Amino acid sequence: MNNPGQGAALNIKGLERTYGKGEHALTVLKDTNLVIEAGEMVALVAPSGTGKSTLLHSAGLLERPDNGDVFINGQSTAKMDDASRTALRRTTIGFVYQFHHLLPEFTAEENLMIPQMIRGRDKVLASQRARELLDYMKIGPRVEHRPSELSGGEQQRVAIARAVANAPSLLLADEPTGNLDPDTSSHVFDTLHTLVRETGLSALIATHNHELAAKMDRTVTLDVGQVIDITK
Ligand code: ADP
Ligand code: MG
Repeated sequence: MNNPGQGAALNIKGLERTYGKGEHALTVLKDTNLVIEAGEMVALVAPSGTGKSTLLHSAGLLERPDNGDVFINGQSTAKMDDASRTALRRTTIGFVYQFHHLLPEFTAEENLMIPQMIRGRDKVLASQRARELLDYMKIGPRVEHRPSELSGGEQQRVAIARAVANAPSLLLADEPTGNLDPDTSSHVFDTLHTLVRETGLSALIATHNHELAAKMDRTVTLDVGQVIDITK
């Protein structure tokens, strides 16, 4: 069977998402389609309220669409039960939020160890990988600090490291630098960019920053639920 987009890291097909019911119903996504090829880094630039987070959460299997399908590495998820979706998400997808969402009572190192141990990696190896990744993200000297003892840029670098701790194939980021000052934002983005390139990850990154978007392979926007390529 020849299925277009089958080799893609992410293939969103005919997605539909409506919030609420009756006269209060709000259809955010309708017949939404998007393909991200393996190794591609795509920027999602669109005004607030257009459905970026809804699209990213659906792509990340964090939310179930009302219709349509999300293929991860060619695998259909529409008919999967919650346990299978969670298992697939843990092995293939990394997610970065605008606010770091690190666990406040754990150190940076522990925040990276926990998702690995949930997947069955033993403590020593999880710690080793956590320290390597945090070194790479230039958090090395702060591995034993808790989130509240880190700057905003450091917190986001830890959150990015955590997202890739289980070596996903797809990284989804929802305005990952939206909460940082311009200098810190561009520094964090550069680190993220290098990480994505060096690991061959595929990525979909929502941002309001056109300068950052221009550094990616392609830019798409959302217009009444439709994904439109606006790469110049
Ligand atoms: P963006 O990330 O581009 O700002 P969102 O995906 O967060 O957009 O939201 C798109 C629209 O859907 C907005 O109008 C928002 O108010 C609405 N929305 C998002 N989540 C919910 C929800 N859980 N219930 C009702 N409406 C929602
Ligand atoms: Mg959003």
